Amino acid sequence: MAEPYQHYIDGEWVSGDGTETFESTNPATGETLGEFHRGTPSDIDRAITAADDAYEEWRELSRIDRAEYLWDVYHELRERTDELGEVVTKECGKEISEGKADVVEAAHMVEWAAGDARHPKGDIIPSEIPSKDAYMRRKPRGVTGCITPWNFPIAIPYWHMAVALVEGNTVVWKPAEQTPWCAQIVAEMFEEAGIPDGVFNMIQGFGDAGNAIVEDDRVPTVLFTGSAEVGHKIAGKLGDESGRRVACEMGGKNGIVITEQADLDIAVHSAVMSSFKTTGQRCVSSERLIVHEDIYDEFKERFVEVAEKVAVGDPLEEDTFMGPAIEAEHVEKIQKYNDLAREEGVNVLVDRTELGDEEIPEGHEDGHWVGPFVYEADPDANLRCTQEEVFGPHVALLEYSGDIERAVDIHNDTPYGLAGAIISEDYRQINYYRDHAEIGLAYGNLPCIGAEVQLPFGGVKKSGNGYPSAREIIEAVTDRTAWTLNNSKDIEMAQGLSADILTDD
Ligand code: ADP
Repeated sequence: MAEPYQHYIDGEWVSGDGTETFESTNPATGETLGEFHRGTPSDIDRAITAADDAYEEWRELSRIDRAEYLWDVYHELRERTDELGEVVTKECGKEISEGKADVVEAAHMVEWAAGDARHPKGDIIPSEIPSKDAYMRRKPRGVTGCITPWNFPIAIPYWHMAVALVEGNTVVWKPAEQTPWCAQIVAEMFEEAGIPDGVFNMIQGFGDAGNAIVEDDRVPTVLFTGSAEVGHKIAGKLGDESGRRVACEMGGKNGIVITEQADLDIAVHSAVMSSFKTTGQRCVSSERLIVHEDIYDEFKERFVEVAEKVAVGDPLEEDTFMGPAIEAEHVEKIQKYNDLAREEGVNVLVDRTELGDEEIPEGHEDGHWVGPFVYEADPDANLRCTQEEVFGPHVALLEYSGDIERAVDIHNDTPYGLAGAIISEDYRQINYYRDHAEIGLAYGNLPCIGAEVQLPFGGVKKSGNGYPSAREIIEAVTDRTAWTLNNSKDIEMAQGLSADILTDD
């Protein structure tokens, strides 16, 4: 039997201190994909020491030299997109176009960060005093802890790490326990790029390993993408006066407003993509469709028709729309929410909670299958099923009457604020939504999924306190300095402040 895969610490592959291992399994088949050492808090400690030691030299390189390592990674991501896309699909169950898109998105993020290295950084700012030069400059913060989820197992790690590294930080990364094979490949890419020892470290493992990063004061910055439950715990621990910082991107209970002015083709298409892509397991997936009464019946009929027949099955097949859920426990969670909706008295329209035997492809009987669950509910009933994130293909139709203000009130009536969309041909309605929807990622006449790396990515309210992606992540992984330089032999102060203490008379 093959040896379990290892951690990558200080430029070496090591088994770590722990004795336990864990397996990665294909959620569509139950097949074992590999065995991995389970990292312990002492492995994390060692990785943080290595990253801390490597930091001084790494930050002294120019941004352009640091980015050179990332260009190697970029080319590899591009050359191996198809192969790696298949790995993503096998390990996390997303259908194959999504598996490949995960790799393409990673390449885009690396390209953005490495390209940004040659762009101007900071600001030149005027001073009141002609002989002074004033600037805003940025400095790295040190060791960046990255804690990532399973659903974008190649893309999200690069969202976190590419910019952190280019800005001169070193990295300790704890990937998701469900997708260690993808993490292994990411680590191999950094090794092959020849990144200096200790600059990048990867420790496989679970929440206890992630928590050890959070607990360590030598890590001034933590980037987290995952559940609201864990993210708020982390933010609570770092939200003290120590100067440590966390950027969290968490879940949502995302909605799409479909007004009486909507193009129904766009509405149905957007709703299906947003609700069922990745089996509803994106942080931006939509579980609330807020539909105007004038078009409600027609929209309902068309959406239900697609939800009844949307292809659930082998994610490696190109005509599959939805693959499996990530884990058996996650199927149970989705089923519990479907049960809860029934208990809360909603009107169920589509119930594919249990797929029929004939729907499950041969050889996939051990997969974690769950199909669409669609219902209609009263938007004012304050039901748990329409308020809490399920993270699955569980969708409420919420009918409204009245104007766009009413629709946006319903839209905003959740504790979350990540993503959303409006479908309308009326620019006044669109503009109202744009200005009043309480979300970080807003779309018009589009699904509420499908981010691009050069845009901010993050939410408000319970969905996040930071933007662990692209330009905005620079705020998390650097400190700003207001730097003022005097070019004169005299000291002249701003605001007319007297400075003549050395004159005799
Ligand atoms: P998801 O529901 O998407 O799996 P989680 O929040 O459970 O999201 O996990 C996201 C990442 O956070 C994973 O890498 C997981 O191991 C890690 N994690 C889980 N619990 C903790 C914790 N208490 N402290 C730090 N990291 C954690």
